[in-house]
Amino acid sequence: MKPLYNLKANTAMSKLADVLVIGSGSAGAVAAISAAQSKYKVMLIERLGFAGGTSTQMLDTFYGFFTPGENARKIVGGIPDWVVNRLNKSGEVFLRPNTYGAGTGVNYNPERLKSVWDEMFMAHGVEVIYHSTLVGIEPYGEQQKCLFFHKGIGIFEVIAKRVIDATGDADYCHWKGHAYEKAGEKEAAQSLTTTFRMANVDLDKFEKAGGKKMLKEQMQVAVESGRHPLPRKEGSAHEMNVFGCVSTVAVKVAGHDPLDPQSMSSAEIEGRRQAFVFEAFFRDMVAGYENAKIIGLSTQIGVRETRRVYGKYRLSMDDFNQRRQFEDQILICGAPVEDHRSTPDGGAETYWKYVPDYGVYGVPYGCIVPEKSEMDWVVGRCFSATHQAHASCRSMAQTMSMGQAAGQAAVLSLDQDTDAWGINKADLSNRLLKLGAVLEMPQERAQMERNSWSKNKLSNES
Ligand SMILES: Cc1cc2nc3c(=O)[nH]c(=O)nc-3n(C[C@H](O)[C@H](O)[C@H](O)COP(=O)(O)OP(=O)(O)OC[C@H]3O[C@@H](n4cnc5c(N)ncnc54)[C@H](O)[C@@H]3O)c2cc1C
Repeated sequence: MKPLYNLKANTAMSKLADVLVIGSGSAGAVAAISAAQSKYKVMLIERLGFAGGTSTQMLDTFYGFFTPGENARKIVGGIPDWVVNRLNKSGEVFLRPNTYGAGTGVNYNPERLKSVWDEMFMAHGVEVIYHSTLVGIEPYGEQQKCLFFHKGIGIFEVIAKRVIDATGDADYCHWKGHAYEKAGEKEAAQSLTTTFRMANVDLDKFEKAGGKKMLKEQMQVAVESGRHPLPRKEGSAHEMNVFGCVSTVAVKVAGHDPLDPQSMSSAEIEGRRQAFVFEAFFRDMVAGYENAKIIGLSTQIGVRETRRVYGKYRLSMDDFNQRRQFEDQILICGAPVEDHRSTPDGGAETYWKYVPDYGVYGVPYGCIVPEKSEMDWVVGRCFSATHQAHASCRSMAQTMSMGQAAGQAAVLSLDQDTDAWGINKADLSNRLLKLGAVLEMPQERAQMERNSWSKNKLSNES
């Protein structure tokens, strides 16, 4: 019988790229758009049929644009602004003021965001290939051969001069042999969460009945009385961009390995089961939710960390605590440590720790360059950081900023005919500043009212 696939690469389908970005989450999508601000051919390959990764698979709020605290500052700019500006044009952005927690969030319609990513790839000349998964690599002189699987054609290869690993799971770095720490290896890994969205919520009634405070009290009653077997006593539900709909981060699935198919399968099953336990609780015990129903579960269970690659620099809690700044910093971060610990008994809820005085620390270039890199970068939630520093710096505004920097660095390394670490770091800073990146704490206070995104200092798409 003829096998369905020839597992050797189909060379008739070979492709060439100057810069290959693997994975189109918030980090990879921005990396590709950033690299495309050049004369080079940029290719972006994604395992699913749409871009955005976590930003569109399960979430609806960008955190990290603003520092928390009373005197919020806007600390991210450049291409991440272009993304929100486009969303804002469709009237589907509002600021969700939150002085503490992770600070004010930028709420968007995730379905619209899928389309915005597509529009931006087309506008900036990024060649995007969906439904294709990186499954291995092979040496190819000074370039890199990457092997992808598509169910229609089997294996195809892409030969690239520069590669940016934005898979979230550091799949490329794994195949390349770059060193990494697996989540859970040294410290408890963050738990997994299936997010779910509910329709038919009477938000006025909910607010009048006590809002968030009432929700938290009801969760405690539900757990302590045994009326609803919720996995935890905390969890959030917030208003979406669609009238009468809410999005939640409540499910908690601990102790599973995102790199093991059997373990991930039971995590998916458990995540969905818990979502409907929450649905029953909301309908029964939370004012305003009497007629609510789940209308969507995240495309897959949300994974906060998988592999964290060892880079030329490893971001640590010392950098966070000292609010350290670096000459070659590529972004700044003011987000708190938000560690959704993995204890299965729900005893330890999310652990929060704030940057002293609601300040910011810098993230140096070495955090996105693997230790032994020649032509590779690693961005997004697999960047180089300790578990706790990662728990602060993984918000989407920061992961987009890492992508912005890696895209520019890849272009510089081609222009300067040098490797990832050999580029002129001052040139990188200048390019980032020209795009609108924010590399030091601004003086002016940010505008935080619900509809005030465009009143802030923004980078406009050129
Ligand atoms: C439950 C949960 C709630 C969170 N809440 C918030 C929040 O409210 N706000 C916030 O700012 N941040 C939040 N975060 C953190 C933030 O969303 C992530 O850290 C960030 O989105 C990660 O972006 P990324 O681009 O690094 O990775 P991902 O978003 O994981 O994207 C990786 C992409 O690579 C693709 N891919 C993976 N492997 C391959 C392969 N082998 N070949 C091809 N493609 C591949 C994936 O399909 C995906 O599209 C949350 C995270 C989770 C899990």
